[in-house]
Amino acid sequence: GVSVVLFTSNLRLHDNPPLHSAARTADAVVPLFVRDPAIGSAGFDAPNRRAFLADCLADLDAGLRERGARLVVRSGDVTEQVCAVAAGVDADQVHVAAGVSGYARRREERLRAALEAERRRLCVHDAVVTAVAPGEITPGGGDHFAVFTPYLRHWLGVPMRGPLGAPRRLRVPDGVRSEPLPSRAEVSGLSPGLAAGGESEGRRRFARWRRDRMAAYHEHHDDLAGDATSRLSPHLHFGTLSPVELVHRSRDGGPGADAFVRQLAWRDFHHQVLAARPQSSWSDYRTHHDRWRTPRSAAREVEAWRAGRTGYPVVDAAMRQLQHEGWMHNRGRLLTASFLAKTLYVDWRVGARHFLDLLVDGDIPNNQLNWQWVAGTGTDTRPNRVLNPVVQGRRYDPHGEYVRRWVPELQGLHGSLVHEPWRLPPAERAGYDYPGPIVDLTEGVARFRRSRGKE
Ligand code: FAD
Repeated sequence: GVSVVLFTSNLRLHDNPPLHSAARTADAVVPLFVRDPAIGSAGFDAPNRRAFLADCLADLDAGLRERGARLVVRSGDVTEQVCAVAAGVDADQVHVAAGVSGYARRREERLRAALEAERRRLCVHDAVVTAVAPGEITPGGGDHFAVFTPYLRHWLGVPMRGPLGAPRRLRVPDGVRSEPLPSRAEVSGLSPGLAAGGESEGRRRFARWRRDRMAAYHEHHDDLAGDATSRLSPHLHFGTLSPVELVHRSRDGGPGADAFVRQLAWRDFHHQVLAARPQSSWSDYRTHHDRWRTPRSAAREVEAWRAGRTGYPVVDAAMRQLQHEGWMHNRGRLLTASFLAKTLYVDWRVGARHFLDLLVDGDIPNNQLNWQWVAGTGTDTRPNRVLNPVVQGRRYDPHGEYVRRWVPELQGLHGSLVHEPWRLPPAERAGYDYPGPIVDLTEGVARFRRSRGKE
């Protein structure tokens, strides 16, 4: 028979259960990607992600062609397109990765109903987007873990499959129409330093990082200037790399590898929270606050935060890295988010939206739930901690290299003064075209505690 493989957040040939299983059981396979306008109208087709996606599709198509096949691209409502392609080749099965977000699960339900009406089967594969499927492990009496440490303990005990190889040969039935692949060149407004996408690039990056940097990851992952993290997040977001395979290839690799695997567990943790509580994408997960400041009531501060002109150098450096690369170091995400949600007391959704507009790895489970974690509305067990940007700068950028890299106005400053330019004598300070702090840190913390106390 013929099978259709619908690619979603799994744009890869290696360790891809839907593709693997179709290749094993069918005589011919249609590898299908649908550009669904619903994604665009919901504001999720940010230029950086569209460009990265174009790279991923081009690389997937090239890999399929090496194996005798090709990628079929269609645009339109995903259910209609899948049904049309399946009917055109009279497929008996459609394979897809299990969805985690509300959008993906609704897509799955609609697809199942539509296909079953035509007597075709939808085969849904678990542990494709995450290493451990949401709901596979649960605490006694609950449907998901709200605290990371016990989740990790259970997660580490789950038996995982060994990675599946890429299929060797595939045959696409004749006469299946495809639209041209989207190309990166068509996308305007991307970050100038945006990384390249695609499975080949992801595999190269992981191999290099594992060889050179993984062993010391636990010691250097928070070093802003050292940039010692894997930068695999966009590959995990688009599924050009498989989380199961990454865990597998990091097993028994020492403390650096263990720390890396723990981060992959964080990713699964947020996915299982979102799967159990889909409304926590934009609503407070645990603690509710209704006194947030808004882009209207804090217009000047929100604008300065977005532009990287808050007067706090490490905050500004991180916000400019985001603009320039479409990516930000995790430590930067933590301290810029804390600055917006706690020090400025602006609604976390304002920050989450800005991140989603720029991040090449931007996604609902990781972005929204990390924002909630930082804002104290989510799963942080210490929701009232506030990160002080000067302390954070001194600790994670002790020589000021990260600040000087991204805030060229401060290039002339050395040592820890780079984190507190306001301490310069006025005459000298006037020589730097850099704003003064937009908020007094002590007052910011006091406002946060006051507002919290009343809620
Ligand atoms: P590494 O340190 O090399 O970690 C390896 C992988 O583990 C990452 O690629 C990522 O998939 C996963 N991971 C690491 N930390 C986390 C975490 N805290 N939560 C979930 N997964 C994690 N990550 C996203 O993928 N998309 C987002 O939209 C996103 N938004 C964030 C917003 C805020 C406010 C914060 C604090 C964090 C956010 N993160 C997000 C998590 C984290 O910052 C990034 O995954 C990480 O910086 C990516 O860099 P890396 O690949 O070099 O990570």
